[in-house]
Amino acid sequence: MSCEDENRGTVKVINNRYKPSGHFHYGSPNTPILNEMGKLLGVTNPRDITHIHSYGGEAIFFESLSKGKLLATRCDNPLCESHLSIYEPFRIHCPDCLVKATVLDITDLAKRTATVHSFMITERTGAFNTLEVPIKFVNVEFDGVCTILMGYLSLGNPKIGMKLLPIFNTKAPTYTILDISWVPAGTPESELPQNFTF
Ligand SMILES: [Zn+2]
Repeated sequence: MSCEDENRGTVKVINNRYKPSGHFHYGSPNTPILNEMGKLLGVTNPRDITHIHSYGGEAIFFESLSKGKLLATRCDNPLCESHLSIYEPFRIHCPDCLVKATVLDITDLAKRTATVHSFMITERTGAFNTLEVPIKFVNVEFDGVCTILMGYLSLGNPKIGMKLLPIFNTKAPTYTILDISWVPAGTPESELPQNFTF
């Protein structure tokens, strides 16, 4: 059984419950690890798993990215010290009072006010990275939002204070955070990466 088989695990929802089907775990033959003298030191253990990642209350955030919308949340609890604070990244609950926060669409705010707070360019990525290297990570700030969103710049080179526009993978969404990226303000739509729109 290979992890390329057609029976790779998938999940359906029936009566509001997860119903997994197919294979979620694959093992492959191991190999010995020998020293220069041929003495056994250990073995490799190839494993391949399909992880089921439930989004819960954040599902609406990822679903909205696929529709070209950036959602944030706001604490509307009048008794909270952070009353009316807006959070991006999306937080289901206010981190100060733990009351469920109100979902806000900040797409227009992002288009008007997103700027580079700071940035980081890296050639070295974590496991399973699918972005082109070097990755230009940008910490994006928005007017009236008390937190900063980490993202990646798809075109140009980042500069502190640079105006940005959000772009969304609306044509072939992955339903992950990679579905939102950033480009310098003024970028024409014709230059956007494949599958991305404003
Ligand atoms: Zn609060």
